[in-house]
Amino acid sequence: MRTTVLAGGVGGAKLVWGLAQVLAPEELTILGNTGDDLTHLGLTICPDLDTVMYTLAGMADPDSGWGVKGDSFGAMESVARYRGSTWFRLGDQDLGTHLARTELLAAGLTLTQVTAHLCHALGVRQRLLPMADQPAPTLVDTAEGVLSFQEWFVRRRWQPAVRKVILPLPRPAASSQVLEALDMADLILIAPSNPLVSVAPILNVSSVREALESRQRMVVAVSPIIGGRAVKGPAAKMMAQLGMEVSPLGVARWYGAGLLSGLVLDQADESLTPAIEALGIAALPASTWMRTDSDRIGLASCILDWVGSMRPDLNQKGAR
Ligand code: GDP
Repeated sequence: MRTTVLAGGVGGAKLVWGLAQVLAPEELTILGNTGDDLTHLGLTICPDLDTVMYTLAGMADPDSGWGVKGDSFGAMESVARYRGSTWFRLGDQDLGTHLARTELLAAGLTLTQVTAHLCHALGVRQRLLPMADQPAPTLVDTAEGVLSFQEWFVRRRWQPAVRKVILPLPRPAASSQVLEALDMADLILIAPSNPLVSVAPILNVSSVREALESRQRMVVAVSPIIGGRAVKGPAAKMMAQLGMEVSPLGVARWYGAGLLSGLVLDQADESLTPAIEALGIAALPASTWMRTDSDRIGLASCILDWVGSMRPDLNQKGAR
């Protein structure tokens, strides 16, 4: 089943890894959020793309959720000695990724081309596409003023209360590769990523929301909220601050029946199934907390089986 996944960082990468175990590489394309990207120490850093790339390459740090497993921090210590900025920590191997990316961008390659090059070098066979080639930074309007996403998220540890997430206008242009990935997909999956700051920036890319709303293919989301809480990070807190119900029902309402054909929610929230279905969105309670590799594969298989049962014309699994 040709599957295109809209993904942020950690939550997205876990599901993408599971899908990569059950789909053939050519069946899986990931549209990665670049709203979190930053220029730091002179380098172009794409945290969400890198989390997905390192996860697929088997190099991700499972504890921190960012960076390379077992990385050293010699360069950061050196920066600290010069009193340079160290609030955004970068491991030595990770820095190599940003150096290579920055050099290739300066040579005139697009971010799509650079990402393909980096993935290829790490042996990643699935297609990872940045949502856009032009920078499309997400800003966060807080009680303490407007902050760049990473200033708010990392430097301020997501403490200032959020009043609004500000996405770029005019909307960033989609690359031809992104349009093709949406067009070719049998299934579009919205990963259990933060809806407000990981998925919304991707939907804000020109033509992406429209492609999902065109109803030409199945669009299924996985709730990042389980039992009223986010598994990790600020999603629940932000949803509450923005007046949303912190539950899979709140997630379903926020994406809306115009966009979603189905929502996978955790079995802990099974009682919300009728309310979600009353919105006109099919709902599947499942085991969605991905603590182990087998949880990730289990969830990926379960979603593909469910979609296959709703759309038997789609070939369920890949050649692997
Ligand atoms: P970030 O850019 O690293 O914050 O990553 P994402 O936006 O992709 O992921 C953060 C979201 O993933 C949070 O809202 C978490 O609740 C959710 N998440 C992380 N792990 C899991 C999991 O195992 N299951 C589910 N359902 N959600 C998860």
